[in-house]
Amino acid sequence: MAKVSINLATGSLQKEEIIVGIDLGTTNSLVAFIDPDKNPKVINDAGKGVLVPSVVHFGSTGEITVGNEAKNYLITDPQNTVFSVKRLLGRSYHDIENYKDFFSYKVIDDDTESLVKIKVGDKFYTPIELSGLILKELKERAEHALKTPVNRAVITVPAYFNDSQRQATRDAGKLAGLDVLRIVNEPTAASLAYGIGLNPEETKTIAVYDLGGGTFDVSILQIQNGIFEVLSTNGDTFLGGDDFDRAIVDYWIEKNQIDKKELANNRELAQQLRLKAEEAKKAFAHQSLVNEKIGDIWCTLDRNTFEQLILPKVEQTILCCHNALKDANLDIGDINEVVMVGGSTRTALVKKMVSNFFGREVHDDLNPDEVVALGAAIQADILAGNRKDILLLDVTPLSLGIETMGGLMDVIIPRNSKVPTKAGRQYTTSVDGQANMKIAVYQGERDLVKENRKLAEFDLKGIPGMPAGLPKVDINFLLNADGILKIQAVELRSGVKQEVEVTPTYGITDDQVEQMLLDSVTHAKDDVAQRMLIEARTEGEQMTYTVERFLQKNSEYLSIAEIGATQKLVNELKEVLTSGNKDSILKKIDEVNEFTRPFAERLMDHAISTAMKGKSIE
Ligand code: ADP
Ligand code: MG
Repeated sequence: MAKVSINLATGSLQKEEIIVGIDLGTTNSLVAFIDPDKNPKVINDAGKGVLVPSVVHFGSTGEITVGNEAKNYLITDPQNTVFSVKRLLGRSYHDIENYKDFFSYKVIDDDTESLVKIKVGDKFYTPIELSGLILKELKERAEHALKTPVNRAVITVPAYFNDSQRQATRDAGKLAGLDVLRIVNEPTAASLAYGIGLNPEETKTIAVYDLGGGTFDVSILQIQNGIFEVLSTNGDTFLGGDDFDRAIVDYWIEKNQIDKKELANNRELAQQLRLKAEEAKKAFAHQSLVNEKIGDIWCTLDRNTFEQLILPKVEQTILCCHNALKDANLDIGDINEVVMVGGSTRTALVKKMVSNFFGREVHDDLNPDEVVALGAAIQADILAGNRKDILLLDVTPLSLGIETMGGLMDVIIPRNSKVPTKAGRQYTTSVDGQANMKIAVYQGERDLVKENRKLAEFDLKGIPGMPAGLPKVDINFLLNADGILKIQAVELRSGVKQEVEVTPTYGITDDQVEQMLLDSVTHAKDDVAQRMLIEARTEGEQMTYTVERFLQKNSEYLSIAEIGATQKLVNELKEVLTSGNKDSILKKIDEVNEFTRPFAERLMDHAISTAMKGKSIE
């Protein structure tokens, strides 16, 4: 079967427009793109460096700086310098109250249920705004380096991010003036950077080990038919390279018999020690001994001692790997690839222990702090339609459903559902003896099908004559990995069956998808009101039909007066149905219901007594 590419941006993009990939990290952020030679490349604007520390500083005269420059203020102006904002993204104060001491800036707790805010000076910022500032800096650096406007991006998030954290990341992108084409899991991006998952034919299980500055996570992914699925994640949100630095500093404090209380009051020295420790840690990549002085403090450390210092931390990460495998119901032997991510995986001991645990060589050829951004750029390129051979259709961009009474959209597969997916619902007829059922399939987010995109329409024919409401029609949607939607309709009592296939992505551009999503937001209120009116009307029509049929068939059980009064009420209902007032329709429906309920009971009693007649009870 031919692969159907989602080709999201085909036709809607100018050739020159570059879609960037962004790794919005806790410690460092970076932006990458696909260069003219088709290679992913991280952007280093004007030699400022590839890594942009995820730090924002607010100056006393209102100027905002982001990155290395802001990082310097962490020591000199901590109250006005925000770091690690990713930890707060999409979080409520309740979520973070256990670790609020971690932050040197003010996290506001006015309402524990709502999202946190940060107070700097006399202004309040949301983590979305702060992340937006970091993204804006990345956007500007990319524009400066590439000499072209950058308006679209793919942004990565940890696999364990929930919907609210993902939405917050999207919103941050919007604030930065970026159209966020997709939010991609960091481990997925890292795998892509190594070319894993680019061949739609391969099935693989991958472990992605990500040890950054302050966080650790490990994800077990499965790639099948070009679709990445997260089987499990594990980790520790307070374990990372910073802990290695701290372990070294503590060691030096002990060796030099420095008074910890004194050091707490000497921020300058504390910071110097921390920086020296980080330097030493990095130096062990090419030397085995560090021996330097800060004032009269000896900063001496050999690689062996360093490894002993950090061993407990690394062991902790291995335990997480073990647990991730357990949660995914897998053994070590099931893992086909191990990908190393995060600056701290440069530490030799980390590499060695991870490799030993999984019993195989790990992927570490690429720069571990760049791989997520590189993968994001590859994903962006795929979305731009530049790699038509590749299918990475992992979610359906618009909802899929069918038309029900009154022209309403009944969603069967909601948008953002992971593909392949299968969903179904049962329907019935609305008229007695109905032999055909029209099934119209639509795509879109609006409540009325006429505002959505019609994909197919067919008739389920040959339903045997039955009273309305009795047939059971199962409608199933199967959306496969190739993006093909198969619609099956079966009437369960008779076995009558019909099936069609459509390709929802066919002939729709990314711009159209976005416009449809935008429209659904703009019209949300009107749509809801209209849906409620139509639902009331449909209910009223059905009631009219049922009651009139009842009057026809069962007049012998009712008095002339009762029939007359019922018909009068039904006529009133019919009239109000055309009025367009939902509340008056519902009120009339209630009246009819109240009035006719005793008749139904009477009929029921009669039916029972007829059934009992002539039967002896033993
Ligand atoms: P995050 O994903 O949290 O933003 P990164 O992946 O950028 O973090 O990792 C930052 C961490 O990597 C820091 O703790 C830094 O000290 C550490 N790091 C960077 N280079 C090296 C190196 N050569 N050896 C050991 N650790 C390193
Ligand atoms: Mg990272």
